[in-house]
Amino acid sequence: MPREIDEIKDTAGAYRKWALEARKKYIELRLRQDPEIRGLYIRAADRVSKELRKRVLKTPSSYLRKRQLEELEAALRTEADRLTGNLTKAFEQYIEQAVEAGGGYSQVIVLDLFKKAGMDITGLRTMFATVNRQAVEACWARTKKGLFLSDRIWQQGENFRNTMRDIIQEAVATGQDAVKTARMLQQYVRQGKSTLAANYPNMMERMKGRIPGDISYEALRLARTEMTAAFGEGTIAAAQVSPSYQGMKWVLSHSHPVVDICDTLAEHDEGLGRGVYSPGNEPPFPAHPNCLCALVPVHEDPEKFVQRLKKWRDDPTSEPELEKWYQSHYLGKVVPKPKASVPVTKPEAKPEKKPVAATPGAVDTVSPVEMTEELKGIIKRYTTGAYKNFNAQADAYLKGTPKEKAFSKAGEMLFNAVNASTQRFTELFRIVNLEGFEIDSDNLVVKSPLELGQELVWGLRSTSKSGKFIAKAAQGKDKNLPFVGGKDITQRTVYRLKNETGLDVTSISPYKQQEEVIVSGKFKVMSIGVEEIGKQPMIVIDLQRSN
Ligand SMILES: [Zn+2]
Repeated sequence: MPREIDEIKDTAGAYRKWALEARKKYIELRLRQDPEIRGLYIRAADRVSKELRKRVLKTPSSYLRKRQLEELEAALRTEADRLTGNLTKAFEQYIEQAVEAGGGYSQVIVLDLFKKAGMDITGLRTMFATVNRQAVEACWARTKKGLFLSDRIWQQGENFRNTMRDIIQEAVATGQDAVKTARMLQQYVRQGKSTLAANYPNMMERMKGRIPGDISYEALRLARTEMTAAFGEGTIAAAQVSPSYQGMKWVLSHSHPVVDICDTLAEHDEGLGRGVYSPGNEPPFPAHPNCLCALVPVHEDPEKFVQRLKKWRDDPTSEPELEKWYQSHYLGKVVPKPKASVPVTKPEAKPEKKPVAATPGAVDTVSPVEMTEELKGIIKRYTTGAYKNFNAQADAYLKGTPKEKAFSKAGEMLFNAVNASTQRFTELFRIVNLEGFEIDSDNLVVKSPLELGQELVWGLRSTSKSGKFIAKAAQGKDKNLPFVGGKDITQRTVYRLKNETGLDVTSISPYKQQEEVIVSGKFKVMSIGVEEIGKQPMIVIDLQRSN
């Protein structure tokens, strides 16, 4: 058993069982993510190989020609974007779970202590849920060398595309047949560059340093670092709102043989014990990529704390520290709006001392929209895959869910920004795949899944201000929208908004040609009919704002 486990146990004392559980969850997460990420790359490369083979079937010879290379280029674009999307989803999951695993330790301790004192814990759960959500947002809002995590994930997709293209072009240049090349791609992604050197010595010699030894290495490393950081973020955030929290202990991992910054961090001493940092003074974690050290919050001895808790419950003035915690952290996190009544944890709240709910005021005053770095980061996430999540949050809000329940911090920020925007557009389009249309030989719509007057709730939706782009997408030619368009007019459904406001995100989205504008509101169906946009006939559904 490694020494750090003993150290974790010592630090946790009476709470050691939970500390070990948190550590276990964390290790399990780390072990799980490597094969999962590798799998994403393998599947992406398999699809590229399939595309390659498909091209060969279409030609008399088994060699690729220039035109086919161009087609492949488009397929690579699609695969890179799909990989980026899948990686983003995976990272979203890892970060959320790591934050929870990190914060879970302090949470379970505090809930247990309050239960032992016979106090209600409903409000505490809300407090920890809020803190976790904020920690997740903090992970996505962080930048390294000016890049958001979403940017770095996007780079992985680009690296994948470039590497695949490099190999294919090299194969074409040397006259290697496509089936062999397809097999080569699959082998490369599974076993790395070194095994290719044996089977394709000449080609590998020429490509030398151009392709990475292990194509998923960077993504794996990024995931590990981000996950560790998320675990630290969750650990620190939850500890800081825990009334029994006394300090954060840096437990050195003994798996790194070389003395590094972690040794220094673990030796830190400000009088709380070796390696223990006072609340608010926690060190940045992890200290370096692949760092396996652990952060373990130090909590007050349970018996002592429960006694203090009971004393405070009976007389708030007797425990000023706890009262301070209650006023700042508890009420600050639990009371969502100034009006809300004081919730439960404290049995008999004293009427003479009305808590001043420190709610940081409504945020919906962003008019005109100020493009902060944080907002830009959120928009980038929206345009590269997080739109589903944010759309759903905003839909829930417009359908009546209270704001604080409906939104994550990022979701609310985006929603407010879109609604505050005063930019106006003559026409906005949203192409979708809507089933159930029928048209007759005169292109009249004879059957529609939508009715005139029907209301659509679009908490947030992505639209395009470019008719040209829509015409292309309607033909099924936009690789980023593989699920829309086609030859059949009934496969081309487009919502149209006229003279509407929205937030233009073209400059932030990586998909410039989409000319994307985010809109928000409730809209009514005004008319449905076949019309040409950019010389392409399609079913156009005209909408008008109803809220
Ligand atoms: Zn370390």
